[in-house]
Amino acid sequence: MNYTSIFETIHHEIQPFAHLGQQATYIPALARVNPNQFGICLHTLEGETVALGDADVRFSIQSISKVFSLAMALHFEGENLWTRMGREPSGTTFNSLVQLEYEHGIPRNPLINAGALVTADVLLAHMDNPEEYFLEFLRTLAGTQEVCYNPEVAESEQSCGYMNAAIANLLKHYGNIRGDIDRVLHLYFMMCAVEMNCRELAQAFLPFANHQQPFGYAGITLTTSQIKRMNAIMQTCGFYDEAGEFSYLVGLPGKSGVGGGIAAICPSRYAIAVWSPRLNAKGNSILGMKALELFTTLTAESIF
Ligand code: GLN
Repeated sequence: MNYTSIFETIHHEIQPFAHLGQQATYIPALARVNPNQFGICLHTLEGETVALGDADVRFSIQSISKVFSLAMALHFEGENLWTRMGREPSGTTFNSLVQLEYEHGIPRNPLINAGALVTADVLLAHMDNPEEYFLEFLRTLAGTQEVCYNPEVAESEQSCGYMNAAIANLLKHYGNIRGDIDRVLHLYFMMCAVEMNCRELAQAFLPFANHQQPFGYAGITLTTSQIKRMNAIMQTCGFYDEAGEFSYLVGLPGKSGVGGGIAAICPSRYAIAVWSPRLNAKGNSILGMKALELFTTLTAESIF
């Protein structure tokens, strides 16, 4: 498969959509990002790497971090985790409050904000310094010590994170946050503010594509069965209320973030990361989704 020429075709075909949408503005630090950037990187399990555009520019991974924190929480808690959250698609926005109230403080799944806040609470119960361990985990997965978080983005989000604070308070009311709310929010915002580029993100997702091998990075271990389940959750819940659309158009387990990044995997084949800051109304990257739709169409390599 000539992935380089496929990437060039994709780059050409997405141009008519390049000025649609805008970057996330509800986090002031993200509103300052140049929206006209596009990067994509593929790593295959056979060791081939293909990149194009701004694949080496780091960006805010935002909700993609929820995959990594879930991996850590599953390592620590195993199946117990599901007493505190579900694993059904939410069909609502990523920061929905109403659903959480209807469902008495049990988040629908770990990849929406409510679920990730409970996950952060779980991590706090297991580690003295989860911020440091989270970074070490990501550095080991991405194979570089250069992965850091951007304190300016974390503070910027904290300064106007009223919805997340409301979700955390509701969770606390229902007894589903056990620790201190401010401590949970601090960890959550820090994890969202990690910066990676497409090359690093695709590398970090490769173990999920290698689903027949047990997972072990920086002391975080998952069985092959747990990797299968993580991929299932990414497939059904990775794109909030657009999970069905992403399955239909792209057909890969993956996760998006409001920084404009999307990471996805094809089991036994590859991991791919794409980034472009302009978002659609659901908070997913317009060019990112377009590029991945073209990629799985041109290669006929998806899970379907
Ligand atoms: N940090 C963002 C928030 O909590 C993450 C949301 C996202 O990427 N969908 O609002």
